[in-house]
Amino acid sequence: MDCIFCKIVKGEIPSKKIYEDEKVLAFYDVSPQAPVHFLVIPKEHFRNFRDISSDKLEIISHIFKVIQIIAEQLKLDDGLRIVNNYGKDGGQTVDHLHFHVLAGRSLNWPPG
Ligand code: AMP
Repeated sequence: MDCIFCKIVKGEIPSKKIYEDEKVLAFYDVSPQAPVHFLVIPKEHFRNFRDISSDKLEIISHIFKVIQIIAEQLKLDDGLRIVNNYGKDGGQTVDHLHFHVLAGRSLNWPPG
């Protein structure tokens, strides 16, 4: 499959990894929008959050557990933002489920 994040999971494209286990990979975004900007992805390919069948939804809680662990490690105690862009209007550009985590500066709300 021609999926850039699947290639990162397989090590065919390099990434700056922060965390990895059997289900999940976290790595820094190549185009950071904040002083801290990383992505957390499931290793299994889901196109987006709506593509996850009910019996596999636990991957979402696992991803949030991983974000807790990384927030602790990076001491993101002043706050952070977790973003999942879905579809055309949501601004999704990579069709492999991913959560952005942004931190290190005050973030605007609402987003543009
Ligand atoms: P989205 O627009 O929500 O689909 O986010 C996709 C994100 O993937 C963007 O923030 C890109 O900068 C990021 N990205 C694309 N290719 C890579 C890569 N090879 N390594 C790290 N981040 C990437």
